This record gives sequence, C-alpha cells and structure tokens, in this order.
Amino acid sequence: MTIKTEPKSDIPPTPLAERLLQLISDHGPITVGDFLADALSHPQHGYYSTRDPFGTQGDFTTAPEISQIFGELIGAWLIESWEAIGAPSIFQLVEFGPGRGTLMKDILRVGQLRPKFLEAARITMIENSGRLRHAQQRALAEAHPHIVWRTSLDDIPNGPLLVVANEFFDCLPIRQFVKVDLEGDHPWRERLVGKNEDESGFAFELSEAAYPDPAGAPSPAPVEAIFESSDISRRLVEDLSDRLFQNKGRVLIIDYGHGRSGFGDTFQAVKRHEYCHPLETPGEVDITAHVDFAALARAGRSAGARVDGPVRQGDFLNRLGFTNRLDVLARAAGDEAENLVTGARRLIHPEEMGELFKVLCLSSPGMAEPAGFS
Ligand code: SAH
Repeated sequence: MTIKTEPKSDIPPTPLAERLLQLISDHGPITVGDFLADALSHPQHGYYSTRDPFGTQGDFTTAPEISQIFGELIGAWLIESWEAIGAPSIFQLVEFGPGRGTLMKDILRVGQLRPKFLEAARITMIENSGRLRHAQQRALAEAHPHIVWRTSLDDIPNGPLLVVANEFFDCLPIRQFVKVDLEGDHPWRERLVGKNEDESGFAFELSEAAYPDPAGAPSPAPVEAIFESSDISRRLVEDLSDRLFQNKGRVLIIDYGHGRSGFGDTFQAVKRHEYCHPLETPGEVDITAHVDFAALARAGRSAGARVDGPVRQGDFLNRLGFTNRLDVLARAAGDEAENLVTGARRLIHPEEMGELFKVLCLSSPGMAEPAGFS
C-alpha cells in the first residue's frame, strides 16, 4: 500500500530532525501530530520559535497581513457581539495564535469608534512562541492598557468572553488513520512517522495496532482512505463551549479547511509560498493540516453551544460590508488604490482565500444569529 512518497533524502538533517530521529530510535515511531507539534512549537528549534514567517519575504501570508479590511470587519463584528452579550462593563477579549499582532491592532483601532467597548476589554493573547510574543508586544505597545500574554484558555478569568482565532486551528496536531481492510472490527491503522531505510531521514509507516472506525469518519470508507482527526481541536472547542455555557460570549474561528468531514491527506508543508514535503526539514517549514469544520461544529453542539456556519470567508466578509469598506479605502489611497484593491480581493476571491477559508461561530445557548452567517 502506498502511504505517500518519501521526502528527499539528500538534504542534511535540521537540528530538530536529529532530535526527532534520536527519539524515534529510542522509543519507536511517533504520530503525525507529535511530529507537527515539535516542528512548529519546539521551544528551541520549532518553526514559530525561530522566525517570523509572515509576508512576501517569509513563507506565507495571512488575511490580516494582506489587508487591514479583514481586521476592521472582525473588529466591527466583535463590537456587535459585545452588544449582543449585553455590553458588559468588563469582558475577556481573547485571540488565539496572534502572529504579528496585526489583527488585534486593527480590531483595537476600530474599537475607538465605541470607547465603552475598548474600556470594557481585558485582552489575552494566547501565544506559545516567545519570539512572536515580542513581535506582538511591539505591535501593541500603545494600543491598550490591559493586554496580557498566556499559553492556555485555563489562564483566562471567568466572565463574558469574545474569542477570535485566525489560522490557529490548522496548527493543532492531528492524527491520521488509514483504512487497510474492508472486513473486521479494526480495519484502520495509524499513519506514523518513522525512519527511512538508511536511517538518515523520515518515512511514513503504519502502526502495528489496529483501530475501529474513528469517530466522525464517513461510512463506508474505501481501502486506502485516510481520515484525519484532531482530539486537541475537539477538546479546545468543548472547553470554549463550556465557558460559553457559564457566561455569555462568542467564539469566531477562521481557517482553511472543509465544511464536511471527508477522506484525504491534508498534512502539508509550505516554504517561501511553495508546498514541500512535510517530513523534509522540520523546524524550517510551516506544517499544518486542513481544519475539519464539521468536527468542530459537532463538538460545539454536543457541548451545548449554539453553532453557526461554517460559511465561506468570502461570503462572511461580503455580508459584513467588505465592498463598502474597500471603496472608502481605495478612494483615499490615491496611486496605491490599484494595489490595495488587488490585495484585498484575495480575501474574498473564490480561487484565493474566499472559498477554501471558512468561518465558524460558537455562541452561548439562546443567543441570536451573529452577523455574517446568512
Ligand atoms: N493569526 C495570525 C497568525 C497565524 S500563524 C495571522 O492570521 O496572521 C499561527 C499562530 O499561532 C502563530 O502566532 C503561532 O506561534 C501560534 N501558535 C501555533 N501553535 C500554538 C499553540 N499550540 N499555542 C499557542 N500558540 C500557537
């Protein structure tokens, strides 16, 4: 059975590759998710710990880095949500995986239109890269008197809550299961990362352990189907939904992924805006997986949250007034108008980010539909 081509073997191992190869020698193959978690977040050698990957000079570009309109519309959406939870005089405003801090900066600039929203906000940035924390602290130095940096939802006080996470869930570890038999109670094996033949690099292999149908997998599954699941994402959505049960709030999740659970291998790596093999140079490339929005929606609903979406990012931004805002900015931009319009349209164009990127909202039970979902 083919379980994907092997990475090129003539590339010298990165420092992180050496550590992971040693780990595999000592303890056996690791899950795809363990590989991803270290590749992104290892404190010394992880991708996000060692660089600022964003922008045209970096490896990839995200919506807030492409156009300020993204953060402005999300800011307006958050103000509307703050009103929908009763305009509390103190609330927790939380961003997961804030990158360079650009999205929060744009949100807070729009917040100046509603001073009471800004006064009420107690901001927490959930970030595990020390390097990116510094970048965020620089970007937001003057932006708000109450901003703290944390690594987990557990560190955030109880109370009314508004959360935003753009391109965060794609960084969370997944596991991959491969269907190997059509018969029997345990027809799946896990796809693991082991060593290649000459032990100089990595190769995929299948677990000896066999598994029953993974929760959420469509049925029937053909032989060689790959199903991806993320327990960590599911648990985070459950924890957020518990919070929304205790106090009023909303959570906005934006990412690339699929609206229905399906089969396929989305474990991928990007370097300088090009795809490369995810096992090739761990620590030096961005490794992610597509987000299974149907799985997140199921987790939210079963934990008692109201769930809206997923909807396409293009539809969401258009409904929030993308075109009007673009017109206003373009009129003020003079010679730069054409660049500005071309860049911004990437956010909504179906062949760029408009369709692959989806938006999902969790709300406290009993709340009305949020803006942008119909
Ligand atoms: N939201 C930003 C950046 C997306 S990149 C933007 O749209 O531009 C992913 C971000 O999540 C980075 O800031 C990365 O350091 C952070 N991150 C990844 N895994 C994380 C984890 N497990 N805990 C906290 N932050 C994490």
